[in-house]
Amino acid sequence: MEVKYLKDWETEMNTCIRCAYCFEGCPMFKEKGWESDTPRGKVVLAYGLFTGQLEPSDYIAEKILECTFCRDCIQRCSANISVPDILTAARADLVEAGFKYDSHVNLLNKVESSGNIFGKELKAPPHPGKTPVLLGCRFLERSDDAKRYVEILTKLGMEPMTVEDEVCCGMPPGVLGYKDKTNKQKALFRERFPYNEFICMCTTCVFFIRKSYTDLNPTYIIEEIYKRLPEANPRQLGLTVTYHDPCNVGRGMDMVKEPRKILKMIGCDYVEMETFGKEAECCGGGGGVLVTDRELSEKLARKRYRQALDTGAKILVTLCPTCELNLANMAKEDGNKIEVKNLLDLIWEALR
Ligand code: SF4
Ligand code: SF4
Repeated sequence: MEVKYLKDWETEMNTCIRCAYCFEGCPMFKEKGWESDTPRGKVVLAYGLFTGQLEPSDYIAEKILECTFCRDCIQRCSANISVPDILTAARADLVEAGFKYDSHVNLLNKVESSGNIFGKELKAPPHPGKTPVLLGCRFLERSDDAKRYVEILTKLGMEPMTVEDEVCCGMPPGVLGYKDKTNKQKALFRERFPYNEFICMCTTCVFFIRKSYTDLNPTYIIEEIYKRLPEANPRQLGLTVTYHDPCNVGRGMDMVKEPRKILKMIGCDYVEMETFGKEAECCGGGGGVLVTDRELSEKLARKRYRQALDTGAKILVTLCPTCELNLANMAKEDGNKIEVKNLLDLIWEALR
């Protein structure tokens, strides 16, 4: 197989000293248990593709795709290498070699035809103002929620402005390894959303944009709320909740204390799950796994949901809309013993 993208990661792949520190928190290894399910095993597969010692196959592609990009391995790695970046490059080389899957192609066709992951015509609820706010596909689809979340910013003294025709930032083709489609979507995104500084409502978008657009400087909505909320004198809700750290927020953006402090600011107590903060288990929704293998994604979500249930809290709060969706599905299949909410919902309640 001809490799184009893995070349950039040759040093990182060689730096892996096979120490296995990365095994401990990897949700895929915990779920499946084979060496090829570990971060180390996946680096070896990628290296094999790079050197030509391994021929690409559906089995290898499956293993390379079975990563939620939860970033747990990055923080444990003794050689400081980024397995998700290596796997993104491996995915891109596999796509070039023809390893394309129907579920991915269908999703990306939707992005291409409609500008969002749902394949529907979606517009941001209009809100004139000065500071651009990017909703992202998942909040575009939840326009009533998005309207309230935009209003939070108004209540905090800002003048938020939505952009009706915003489109996907390019994350889905980016994580699945479709380089040409990613570049095309990124160009369209810039055309429709021509701002360098803006507020981003979605965890996944802000993380992707910071990583893959060198010229953009988005602020995550929670950063803005964290700064401004104390001045707004929020109502005290008097709830007890548990909080799920989305991978991109806790490990990705190093924001563990901020959501918890916000909970305190609005009068909510929180009970921690068995794993939390930088050690929090993944909900299974990231890295494209939700579309690659829904059943596998749900197995991981079920485990995380159980941890939430074990806390005894009746409300599970999170930030990422994909975590919210995955965990809410698990709550639903278990008779809604726990209510899954976005932290933005609670903040809105406290500011009404
Ligand atoms: S990013 Fe997460 S799922 Fe992927 S290899 Fe690392 S620990 Fe495992
Ligand atoms: S922790 Fe890092 S260096 Fe050690 S085996 Fe895992 S990927 Fe390789």
